[in-house]
Amino acid sequence: MRALLDLLLTQVRLQKETRLMDVGIRQGMIVYLAPSGGADVPEALMVEQGYEGMLLPGFVEPHIHLEKAYLLSRMEQEAASLQDAIQMTADMKHGFTKEDMAARSMAVIREAVRCGVTHMRCHAEVDPILGLSAFEAAMELKEKVKHALDLQIVVFPQEGISKSPGTAELMEEAMRLGGDVVGGITYQDSDLDAHLQFVFDLAEKYGKPIDLHADFSDNPEQLAISDIASRTIAAGMQGLVSAGHVTSLGSLERGQAVKVAELIKEAGLHIMSLPATDLYINGRGDQEKQRRGLTPICLLREKGVNVVIGVNNVRNPFTPFGKADPLETAWLLAVTAYMGGEADARHLIEMVTGGAARALGIQQYGLQIGAQADMVLFSVPTERDILLDKPEQRTVWKHGVKVAETRVAGSLQGLL
Ligand SMILES: [Zn+2]
Repeated sequence: MRALLDLLLTQVRLQKETRLMDVGIRQGMIVYLAPSGGADVPEALMVEQGYEGMLLPGFVEPHIHLEKAYLLSRMEQEAASLQDAIQMTADMKHGFTKEDMAARSMAVIREAVRCGVTHMRCHAEVDPILGLSAFEAAMELKEKVKHALDLQIVVFPQEGISKSPGTAELMEEAMRLGGDVVGGITYQDSDLDAHLQFVFDLAEKYGKPIDLHADFSDNPEQLAISDIASRTIAAGMQGLVSAGHVTSLGSLERGQAVKVAELIKEAGLHIMSLPATDLYINGRGDQEKQRRGLTPICLLREKGVNVVIGVNNVRNPFTPFGKADPLETAWLLAVTAYMGGEADARHLIEMVTGGAARALGIQQYGLQIGAQADMVLFSVPTERDILLDKPEQRTVWKHGVKVAETRVAGSLQGLL
């Protein structure tokens, strides 16, 4: 006799599958996958009807700042530039306490989980202002929320490394204490080579991947991404290095941009587009022919680069908008990167699921036998519907256990 399933989810639609499917889960893993209505469906302790809605693997949020979310009520004015946003936030950081950071971070995580996020990579700031307090708050949260969300922590020098003495030692200490990823920021220190050397050396010492904030500008001469790619190849770290923003590439003349995109592909870099922040901050100096300020998504994808999408900031000087819903960010990119077709919708959903999972090196991800049962169920049937509707109604499972369910109450029947 076959072992009982813990959960059988019936009549769901999966990506790249035209038939309705049943999905069986045991001990947090997907162990059964077959067309609905089969004669030999295993018994389950619990059966849930999917009502022909689409089931996706849990969303992966690849780039977010938790401890500086929800700062609007503390701001007296809007930031006028990137350096302005960095300075305003640095000033506010003097008032951050560990409890305050933990509470705002938890608010973001709660919303992300409700939206279907089951994996997240956050950048915890490590510098002489905060010391290790943001990193420690993130480490505590990581443990506290692990039943609902896997959290990776990037050790992030927002204020620069050489520009902010003491940061190098703090980064080293955070990696020793269990940081998952070495961070960096190419536009904060004047000596790019020394900055990258430190980041790559630290990653090698602890055997960890790298995730850099890079080229957040619309100045085509700012091209640290080429140095990052060359170093990645030299270090044999292809596939283990990510770069966020990379917007100056969008201002580069096409022929040169093609060459850089090919180098990015060769280095296996994962490019993280952060459209809400990029669109809000970049292009401001253009008095005419104002640029959008995004990285060239379509060119990079054409060259085979793994491009993913991150929320980045939630309601702070860098981005006084937003919430932790990957679909909101994907929709924004769809509009601004000319991605309006049906195939584009599938690509955008891939960018916040499988593509982001590859960038974060997540194992056993996806909806196949042997994968972890991290899933989000929608009431609509296609990826394009999911992107366009951004439906409120979602059911989220982590390791096969339901962790969030949003139902839309009421009906307009009889009223219309
Ligand atoms: Zn960021």
